[in-house]
Amino acid sequence: MESSVYKIKSMYKIEEFLKPQIIYIPMGRTSSIKIGDYIYKGDVVFIDDKDDYIIHSSISGTVVNVKDNLNYLGEKQSFFVVENDFKEKTRNGKGSICKKVKYNKNSFFDLLNTGGIMGIEESGLCQNFLRVDTYKYLLVNAFEISPIEFNNGCIINNYTESILECMDLIIDVLGLKKGYIIINENDYVNIKKINQYIGSYPNIELILLTNFYNWKCDYNILNYFIDFTKDEENCIDNIIFNSVNVIFLIYEILKNQKPITEKIITICGNGIRKNKNLKVKIGTSLNEIGLKTIDYLKNQNKLFILGSLINGKSVCTDDVIIDKKLKDINVIKNEFLKTTECIKCGLCHNVCPMKLYPIMIMNNLNNVNRLKKIKAVECIECGLCSYICPSKIELNEYVKIAKEKVKKENV
Ligand code: SF4
Ligand code: SF4
Repeated sequence: MESSVYKIKSMYKIEEFLKPQIIYIPMGRTSSIKIGDYIYKGDVVFIDDKDDYIIHSSISGTVVNVKDNLNYLGEKQSFFVVENDFKEKTRNGKGSICKKVKYNKNSFFDLLNTGGIMGIEESGLCQNFLRVDTYKYLLVNAFEISPIEFNNGCIINNYTESILECMDLIIDVLGLKKGYIIINENDYVNIKKINQYIGSYPNIELILLTNFYNWKCDYNILNYFIDFTKDEENCIDNIIFNSVNVIFLIYEILKNQKPITEKIITICGNGIRKNKNLKVKIGTSLNEIGLKTIDYLKNQNKLFILGSLINGKSVCTDDVIIDKKLKDINVIKNEFLKTTECIKCGLCHNVCPMKLYPIMIMNNLNNVNRLKKIKAVECIECGLCSYICPSKIELNEYVKIAKEKVKKENV
């Protein structure tokens, strides 16, 4: 028992990688920077086309070039290359974005908005400003389904009090009824840790969930929670649902009164000798992290899976830029058999929680009318079809493309 607790503790250790030589900033349609510019730490350097996702520079330095790399989705994209001058200069000296400590709803959302929380996947809190008056509950997911992924576990373990404190503040500022933190019932180390502090937060309750794959799907957790509260009027619109990772980023904005420029990522898998949790600057290249701190297995082809092992995107290179949205990177030995022909076993349909026909969707990618009829847009991107397929067909990726095609035509 003693040694297994020790192992878990060392698994949750966080190291820092905060002095990258270079950071990469995605080029937007209307980029505010160009080659030759000097940029300060905290400058807004990227705004996406929909105006709902911004990136602040995580270092001060000079834009020296443009280079193609892979983004957090594993897609090729052009990035500005910024050389770090290691001075960490901010525009307003040791600048802050806001000095308010007593928040009301508006000042709170303003601060989070300026701090760059918008557009981070899972950050339901900020994507639904308009619903702010309907919110009743804050639900925070610290559940870890896969035994080899531990980013949520690492954050809750290292920042237990900060997470609870931040949840309490959100409940208070938004006038919510209650907050809940969800954790795997087998995660006894973190249950113990949370129970040490939760007594000081009467508005926060712990929910233990059984170890069941479908919790990976937010929709299932939300439905479970709606039943759990026994509040007959409770519905999805009443719930602010975030991961513990997003609550930690909110905490960092509030504590430091500064935009998000750093985050904690977990690099794990059988392609490396030692799993790591690293605090890194947003925009750092996985390649630089790998060269300086990761002990890869030698003479071994590797696959890098960006995101979860089951529904993440696998790429063969580490030319990947760390974004605010990326938290897990699985490095695995590339020993997989090549994709082969579909053997019509039907497993992909049997396993699909939405009862779709993934292989049929793949075979009809160029027929949008057919894609509509076979309800491709209902896919919840759980990745089970790809996982189960004996022919190693990446069905999940094809279904994502199909969904995009149908959505585009409906615009
Ligand atoms: S990813 Fe595959 S299994 Fe999951 S909902 Fe979509 S089609 Fe079904
Ligand atoms: S699981 Fe794979 S092999 Fe089986 S029917 Fe689906 S696509 Fe074909």
